[in-house]
Amino acid sequence: MKRNLAAILSAALILSSSILPAFAVELKGDVNGDGKVSSADALIVQRYAIGLAKLQDKQKTSADYNDDGKVTNVDALLILRKTININVPMLYLPSQITINCGDRTSLDPKVINGSDKGLTYTYEFGGVISDDGTGEPVLEVSYASGLVKGYHLGTDHVVVTASNGLTAECDVTVVNNKTEKIIHVGDHTLKSTKEIMIYNDCYSESYDFDYIYGLVVHSTAEPGIKADEWYSMWNKAGTPACVHAFLDDDGVYQYLPFEQTAWHAGIPVNETRIDFEICEPAGFEYDEDWNITNYDPKEQQEYFDKIWENATVYAAYLTYIYDFDVENIISHYEAGQMGIGTKHDDPDHWFILHNKTMDDFRNDVEQLLKEDIYETEETIISSLE
Ligand SMILES: [Zn+2]
Repeated sequence: MKRNLAAILSAALILSSSILPAFAVELKGDVNGDGKVSSADALIVQRYAIGLAKLQDKQKTSADYNDDGKVTNVDALLILRKTININVPMLYLPSQITINCGDRTSLDPKVINGSDKGLTYTYEFGGVISDDGTGEPVLEVSYASGLVKGYHLGTDHVVVTASNGLTAECDVTVVNNKTEKIIHVGDHTLKSTKEIMIYNDCYSESYDFDYIYGLVVHSTAEPGIKADEWYSMWNKAGTPACVHAFLDDDGVYQYLPFEQTAWHAGIPVNETRIDFEICEPAGFEYDEDWNITNYDPKEQQEYFDKIWENATVYAAYLTYIYDFDVENIISHYEAGQMGIGTKHDDPDHWFILHNKTMDDFRNDVEQLLKEDIYETEETIISSLE
């Protein structure tokens, strides 16, 4: 008799696995009480809804996922949705983004259905080598900011891992677009063109700034060479120098990202200050001792007035954007005098021919900083892929 009862019980369990043991239901949707919400729970609810399974009262409470007092296929569906991570935390990245050479980006990872408070992210690259012939990788990490840096042309696959263990993936394509924007400082406007010198060794080898302490102002000592002409002259391997920008009477050309150091006035000043070069006008020469000869200040005054306006406007803009003190704007000459840079005369040797000094320059920048400073969005004018 005893033996028969046991045999009947086990037969019943085999025939109808939906008759479940009693247990305490703690988790909404965990109908079988195994401590997690899974597709097995959804299946039980679906079988119950069509009369193929029985549920205990506690199980019914758990199965009624939308709390409408009934256990139906809708509850089964809601439980299934939960199992496919619709309601659990996940890391979101766009599947593909395009960035410019020299741009730094976080890829903007976002936690969905959870908090991203205090999270940090690490980036794992596929290590793809660029297709621009430099043999350099497509992506790098900026050592200063930890951000992904568009380095050379091509596409790499990035896996981002959050400090809580969530991961997501993104294809990052790096291009080199020539872009243009207009800088406004009060009533002054300045056209700023950006094209990054990706073949200049400085672009590949220089480090990112920890912080930007100030600005060095140069002039080129190459009479008559305009800002746009330096791109073809310097965008190649073996060039021993690179600057952030060249400026003339028409506008400014930015050739390096301001996040990284340039090679313009020696160590240590290069490591703490951004810089730009002012193009000197045609119509005079340097002698063999680098003294200016045949310079007619009256004839050059119109050009000088325009570059003075553009240079002070650009310096005010950079001071505002990178948030350093006006007193940290120095000339190459001053850097040499301070013992922090190479000994050159520029641009003071040229300014003085128009009765201007670096103190005048800083005073004018100080005045411009009282004006409204803003810029238009960058527009792409050509692609250098
Ligand atoms: Zn210089």
